Amino acid sequence: MRISVIGCGYLGAVHAAAMASIGHEVVGVDVDVKKIDMLSRGEAPFFEPGLQEILTEGIASGRLSFTSDLAAASGAQVHFIGVGTPQQKEGSAADLTYVDAAIDGLRPFLRAGDVVAGKSTVPVGTAARLAERIAPTGATLVWNPEFLREGWAVQDTVDPDRLVAGIPAGAAGERAASILRAVYHPAVAKDTPFIVTDYATAELVKVAANAFLATKISFINAMAEIAEVTGADVTQLADAIGHDVRIGRRFLGAGIGFGGGCLPKDIRAFAARAEELGRGESVSFLREVDAINLRRRERAVQLTVDALGGSVFTKRITVLGAAFKPHSDDVRDSPALDVAVRLHGLGASVTITDPAAIPNARRLHPHLNYVTDRDDALRDADAVLLVTEWDEYRRELSPEHAATLTTGRVAIDGRNGWDAAAWRAAGWAYYGMGRP
Ligand code: NAD
Repeated sequence: MRISVIGCGYLGAVHAAAMASIGHEVVGVDVDVKKIDMLSRGEAPFFEPGLQEILTEGIASGRLSFTSDLAAASGAQVHFIGVGTPQQKEGSAADLTYVDAAIDGLRPFLRAGDVVAGKSTVPVGTAARLAERIAPTGATLVWNPEFLREGWAVQDTVDPDRLVAGIPAGAAGERAASILRAVYHPAVAKDTPFIVTDYATAELVKVAANAFLATKISFINAMAEIAEVTGADVTQLADAIGHDVRIGRRFLGAGIGFGGGCLPKDIRAFAARAEELGRGESVSFLREVDAINLRRRERAVQLTVDALGGSVFTKRITVLGAAFKPHSDDVRDSPALDVAVRLHGLGASVTITDPAAIPNARRLHPHLNYVTDRDDALRDADAVLLVTEWDEYRRELSPEHAATLTTGRVAIDGRNGWDAAAWRAAGWAYYGMGRP
């Protein structure tokens, strides 16, 4: 099938390459010429495991190409929209200007029978509005939200745990759904749940999923706050409640909270949209979820200040991790980087290391100190903070080895990823989140 993918960021570039990897002929389109140049040369513009391989294969096969010219979308049967929907500069609602621009730009190249498949995360009601805009072309809009996890994006795109298609009522909608089934043929052949619904449900599925995940994280972080004033251990609490299959242990890791280009802006946009719909109170808890989440960053900073005797001024602090999570170089709203910036603001001499995210972090905060090699970063530190659970820091860094490099013996475990007993046994003053 001939496919276009409009917007080649974390979602779109992976989607384009993954669609080529399952046999489609794909053109990726983006307004960012630098990104397009890199992709055209077969270079992944960001770190995502497995992307480089399918990009190289796709380009070599001749099935995958990239351009900044939207006219190249002409002739494709399915057009995926994967442009950004960031938080508005003023306010917490989603900024839909990129989605609107992509649809308007694509309109002249649409033919009757084409399918436009929206993948960007949008406020409920957007698809119905966009469908009206493309109606005169005879193309059909489906809303096909994306659930990929950065770090597992290639696998999640090729082999998703479910597919959702929001379609309009009538024959054109049914036809579009069957075209989408053909696009995702390997997943459909494996009986991956393929849920066909209306536009509003499809849009809500995505934001509801992210709202639930964010709530689960903030729930356990709220328990961490209570643990901190009672002497309880939130990690044991999480283990114990997680054995209940109705609750489950996943996403119950207390720490410095969630970040990235999705969860924070998606819960804010959802709350803003609910208010527009006169149902603000239905999801007002999301404001609390957000507030709990942001408080944890401050908690990690305070823990560090306390551990270093009441001030971090001129103290050498090594921050392990800059990306918002491991296996990614994404630093958008990264709690790790936020903690580092705050400590720097308090006068600490902060050194940040990360296996993949240093270039992105440096672009955002050029005044901070970055060191690529983990051991070099640890050398002479007064305190060490674990803020992103890369294996290099969480599993592969032994407290004994760390102690050969640092001056101080203060370990702040912002992800509760280290074995507290092992670090203490090696002579460290260990501080976890929500742990005694
Ligand atoms: P991103 O910022 O990495 O990529 C967006 C891309 O769109 C950029 O490369 C930008 O240049 C391009 N763009 C903007 N306007 C354009 C236009 N008019 N024509 C062509 N290209 C244009 O963002 P992302 O993380 O890929 O997210 C994209 C969307 O997917 C968002 O709505 C996001 O919420 C959603 N989403 C993201 C993820 C994720 O893990 N990143 C997962 C699920 C859903």
